[in-house]
Amino acid sequence: MFYETWKYKDNNNLNNRFGENGMKTYNNPPQLNTSRRFADNMTSAHALTLKAKKGEKGNTKGTPYALPAFNITTIQGINAAFDAFETLGASGLLALSNSALKHFGSGDPITGLEVAADYIAARAKRSSVKVATHLDHGDYTTEAGRKVVQGAVQHLTSVMADNSTDHANKRGRSLEENIGYTREVVNMAHPLGVSVEGELGVLAGEEDEDTKSEVSTYTNPDDFEQFITETGVLMIAPTIGTMHGPNKGKPGTKVKLNIELAHELLKIADRVQPETIFVAHGASTLYPQVVDYAVEQLTALSTGMLEQYGQTWKNFVGTDWEQIQGLIGAGFAKINTDTENRQTFLSALLGAVNTNAAKIDIRWYDTKTTEALTQSYLVKLIMAGNYGVWHEPKIDVKKYNFDLHLALADALKNAQ
Ligand SMILES: [Zn+2]
Repeated sequence: MFYETWKYKDNNNLNNRFGENGMKTYNNPPQLNTSRRFADNMTSAHALTLKAKKGEKGNTKGTPYALPAFNITTIQGINAAFDAFETLGASGLLALSNSALKHFGSGDPITGLEVAADYIAARAKRSSVKVATHLDHGDYTTEAGRKVVQGAVQHLTSVMADNSTDHANKRGRSLEENIGYTREVVNMAHPLGVSVEGELGVLAGEEDEDTKSEVSTYTNPDDFEQFITETGVLMIAPTIGTMHGPNKGKPGTKVKLNIELAHELLKIADRVQPETIFVAHGASTLYPQVVDYAVEQLTALSTGMLEQYGQTWKNFVGTDWEQIQGLIGAGFAKINTDTENRQTFLSALLGAVNTNAAKIDIRWYDTKTTEALTQSYLVKLIMAGNYGVWHEPKIDVKKYNFDLHLALADALKNAQ
C-alpha cells in the first residue's frame, strides 16, 4: 500500500472527520495513476495540461500554452468543441458543471453524466486529438454533491473538488475542512487515474446556476503549501482576483489580477510539486465583435428590444486577455471560459431569429448557434496557443478572423 487509508466512523460528524482540534495532518497522498487506460483518445486533464505547461506539441518543446476549458451544456456544444479541436489539432478539455449534468439528464445529474460521457467517448474514439472530461465545481461537502463527484470519478477523467466555500452558509471553509474533503476525493480518484482540481481561497461571482459567493479572498501562500502537500492535488485553482460571471466589474473598469501572487505561488509549487497545474476560474474575456453583432441584431429586431437589452450587452465586463496571458507564464495551464461562449451562442441565436423568424426547423437554429460556438472555441484555443499539439492545424491560425456574419465554412475558407 503506497498511501495511508483514511478511515472515519461518521461521515457527517466534522469532529470525527477532522479530529477534535481540527488540525489533523495527512501524509503521503496517493499519486495519480498515470498508467490507467481510458477510452480511446481520452486522458486525464492533468496529462494534457502538464503537456501544455511544458510547451509540448508533437515531438517539439516550445513555449507554455494553456487549455481553455469549455463548459459544455448540450450535445451540440460537444460537437462544436470537437470540430474546433480537430480543426486546430488541439488538446481538448470539456467541463461539465452540476447544472449542466442535470440539463443533460433531464433533472438527474447521474443520468446526465452517463449520457454526456458516453457521447464524448464516442466522438473521441473517432477523433484526431486527445480529450479530457472534467467535473466543474464538484461539491464534496453535501450528500447530493458527493454522489455527483463519486459518479464523475467513474465516468470522467478529471474532477474538481470545490470545497473552499460553504455555499449553504455563505462563508469560506476552514483550511482543515477544505483539506479533509479534498483529500478524500484524491484518495478516491488518483488510484483510478482521475486527476483532481482543488480550490483555495474564495472566488467571487456566480460559479454555477446553483452557487454564488459575494465576497472573495486571495489564496494565502502558507495555506497553499500545506494544501498541496496534504491533499496531493495536482491541479489547483488559487484565487488571485478573477471573478465568475458576465459582470466582472463596473462598465468601463478593468479587472486587475494579482500576477505577483501567482508567481509567488508558482515558486512554492515548483519546490513542493513541480507538476502542479494552476487553473484560472472566472477568466472569461469578451469578444467586442459578439457584443456589436448582438446590438446589431437587437436593433434590427425592434427598437423596443434594443432599448430593453442593448445596455445589458454593452455593460458586460470581462478580463483583458493580456492579463490571462500573464497567467499562462505563471503556471496556469487550464483557463476556464464560459461566459463569452454563452454570449456568442445568444448573439448567434438573435441573428438566426432575425434572419428568419418563421423557420420551422430546429436543426437550422442549432446549426447557427453550434457554428458560432465553434468559432468562439477556435478563437479561444488560438489565443491560448493550444493548436498543432496532435497534428498540424487545418487552417492558418494567424489568418483566422472571428466574425458572426460569416458561416463557419466561409470563416475557415478565409483562413486557408
Ligand atoms: Zn469556476
